[in-house]
Amino acid sequence: MYRRISEWLKQKECKFTEFYDISGQSSIRAGCSVRLFVAPKTLVELSEIMTYLEYMGARYVIVGGMTNTLFVGTDSSVGYLYDGVAVSTKSLSSLRREGGYIYAECGTSLSSLFRFARQCGYGGYEQLSLIPGTVGGAIRGNAGAHGASVADIVAGALVLSPKDGAKRFLSRDELEFDYRTSAIKKSTDIILSALFELPRTNTTFSLSARKYFLDLRKSTQPTGEFSLGSVFKRVSGVGAGYFIDKAGLKGLSVGAATVSTKHAGFIVNRGGATGADVLQLVRMVEDRVYERFGVNLEREIEIIE
Ligand SMILES: Cc1cc2nc3c(=O)[nH]c(=O)nc-3n(C[C@H](O)[C@H](O)[C@H](O)COP(=O)(O)OP(=O)(O)OC[C@H]3O[C@@H](n4cnc5c(N)ncnc54)[C@H](O)[C@@H]3O)c2cc1C
Repeated sequence: MYRRISEWLKQKECKFTEFYDISGQSSIRAGCSVRLFVAPKTLVELSEIMTYLEYMGARYVIVGGMTNTLFVGTDSSVGYLYDGVAVSTKSLSSLRREGGYIYAECGTSLSSLFRFARQCGYGGYEQLSLIPGTVGGAIRGNAGAHGASVADIVAGALVLSPKDGAKRFLSRDELEFDYRTSAIKKSTDIILSALFELPRTNTTFSLSARKYFLDLRKSTQPTGEFSLGSVFKRVSGVGAGYFIDKAGLKGLSVGAATVSTKHAGFIVNRGGATGADVLQLVRMVEDRVYERFGVNLEREIEIIE
């Protein structure tokens, strides 16, 4: 099947790489090889690739900034391998003003979105500008921080159903946002682009709010280290880091994958960890927190095996 997919991609003049080590794309710098890696240059190309992969019955996963996704793969003759296609949106980052809205393609980073909004005289919600990753990943998981989430600023999104190639615009209500979830997470739809609605704001105010939240992050999170942010969701409003810390797990390691000593909710890669190391550590943390408190931690990160 992969031979046919490769031939089709060549015909379409889409660049791709076989047996690609995806670790370098991930914010934790850990992962595995993927059978095929492709980064479409236009939304039309993205739509064609996704519908073709679906038609072929291929395994695939779409990735944005990979700041919340860990590729683990399965042990194979070529080492740990995700036997599927990883489609990256990193080249899809157009931004423009559309009436009172800001239009952004799915691969736009939140920091670029806010920088552009500021140039257009919009702002507020600056805590969201510091969340790494792309518009697609942020909408799917309703990323949020310090009392705000992406749901507060999204007016709607254009989505593709790879099953039939149909595109439709979903309003904020139709996106059904909730804590770290949305209608997209419960479907197989792909976010192509989105419209954002931000209040008119003074640039100086926006920049000082941004600095405030940046300093807050630096003082509480291992910002200079490779990680995927919080590995687990909050438990009835309490950060998972509280339980992990109280269970004495700060510094616990598998290879170079280590529970951060600064913020127990983060796992950091001290250099050379694989996706499998990180997953083993995630499971150890889950088991120990359950043994100690009877609490089942729910993963916030996406694990691709
Ligand atoms: C240092 C650090 C701090 C962080 N702080 C926060 C925080 O404060 N708050 C927070 O909520 N998160 C935080 N995160 C986690 C992460 O940044 C967010 O979840 C972010 O929104 C993920 O975006 P991404 O583009 O990297 O998604 P990816 O990791 O690439 O993908 C995440 C999921 O979205 C899917 N996806 C990606 N693009 C699309 C698309 N176009 N259409 C459909 N599905 C898609 C993927 O298949 C995957 O299932 C942090 C991460 C790091 C490393």
